[in-house]
Amino acid sequence: MDCEGHEYCGLMGIFGVPDAAVPVWLGLHALQHRGQESAGIVSSDGDKIRSRKGMGLLPQAVPSSELEKLPGHLAIGHVRYSTTGSSKPQNIQPLVVDYSEGLLAIAHNGNLVNARTLRDEYEAYGSIFQTSTDSEIIVHLLANPENVCRENSLGHCLNCVKGAYCFLFLRDDRIIAARDPQGLRPLCLGKLDEGYVVASESVAFDLIGANFLREVEPGEMVTISAEGVKSEIFAPKKDIKPAHCIFEHIYFARPDSSIFGENVHQVRHRLGRVLAEESMVPADVVVAIPDSGYSAALGYCQASGLPLDRGLIRNHYVGRTFLAPVQRQRVRAVSMKHNVVPAVVKDKRVILVDDSLIRGTTTKNLVGAIRAAGAKEVHLRISCPPNIYPCFYGIDFPTREELLAATHDIPQMEELLGVDTLRYISLSGMLSAVSLPAHHYCAACFTGKYPVKVIDKMGDKYSMDRSGEEDEDRDMLDLHGGGKKH
Ligand code: SF4
Repeated sequence: MDCEGHEYCGLMGIFGVPDAAVPVWLGLHALQHRGQESAGIVSSDGDKIRSRKGMGLLPQAVPSSELEKLPGHLAIGHVRYSTTGSSKPQNIQPLVVDYSEGLLAIAHNGNLVNARTLRDEYEAYGSIFQTSTDSEIIVHLLANPENVCRENSLGHCLNCVKGAYCFLFLRDDRIIAARDPQGLRPLCLGKLDEGYVVASESVAFDLIGANFLREVEPGEMVTISAEGVKSEIFAPKKDIKPAHCIFEHIYFARPDSSIFGENVHQVRHRLGRVLAEESMVPADVVVAIPDSGYSAALGYCQASGLPLDRGLIRNHYVGRTFLAPVQRQRVRAVSMKHNVVPAVVKDKRVILVDDSLIRGTTTKNLVGAIRAAGAKEVHLRISCPPNIYPCFYGIDFPTREELLAATHDIPQMEELLGVDTLRYISLSGMLSAVSLPAHHYCAACFTGKYPVKVIDKMGDKYSMDRSGEEDEDRDMLDLHGGGKKH
């Protein structure tokens, strides 16, 4: 990806392991790609709840030397990239609140599409919010006296919020994991020694030697306590309609994770194979845009018989400063992040493979650098269909005006990016590369068909909102077709 989309957050929780904050810290380290702006861990020894949080990458936010201040056999942690709610210390999660039912810590991954509307209602009745995040609304719902006295208060409150959410809750004696009825974001359950682990991606289990058990189901709430694991479906049956974010497979999740029932690298590999079958062109070498383009490039090579070579090298030590959401900084970041290996591309017809194309800024600069290094031809291949709609469920795509494919046709993009040809995988090709039936995935950023109606006004994104609309006339295959010129 040309570095503009960001995942909201990563979650990690453990019950039943001595000094649980330590494996939570390690798991968050494996999930750092899901959020680099802030991090936090909250632990409980069954009596007292303690918290450490801070801005920056995990080692700055919660230095490992601080972990001894987080004793206890249960802990939850969070890494955050903010888009809903600005970047400020009070927004760092897990949030810890003290209300009539006692202390509660909350960590959230996703984006609620009715949080603003609910917040306005609560504020109208005098509620005071401590943060500017969408996540805090669940606190006010839980603390509402009408809800406190309900038999299944948490289940009721979860049914009041809409959109994408995986929540981890920590009380002094248990952790609770919950996933929205669409299962938009991944959430995995594992076993570690005598205890249990919950994490956004299975890769967090590997580092601590935990075994993957299963995914938390859409609409399911899992309570882990001294009594063991208790599962409960909190969402009404009619609301449970899986719509897993297919972009997790395309770009966001780590390739060594298994989510939505399959390994991410293998999905990307298949996407690359389909992409090659749909858009083959005579060439000498395949070059991946590192790192996320590698799996698809490997698949492309297998299907095309062309060699893969490292024509681009990525500098892994470019800090968050260079990923700041300012266009000028982004342009500078290109030369900081990638360098061309001229010997690989000189006098060659190059197939350049990436997983997605958002604004195109990075890609344009990379293509220019590859051409400057002597490439004869550059053919850009993208292993997802054109991103033409924004995401309201927790992926920070820009507004529609800034999405390159929403405002340019293929010849215009070829000219702007400086490539000989540009081809995307087709929508049907993308869906053929994943294992579940097509209707089990959200692909709204490609199709405009949003699985959950967006209730809040979403600023300038909202004018593009097509949520709930069915646009059967749209010929998606034509829009996204690999070989067709527009
Ligand atoms: S709109 Fe796109 S990025 Fe957002 S949840 Fe759906 S598939 Fe994922």
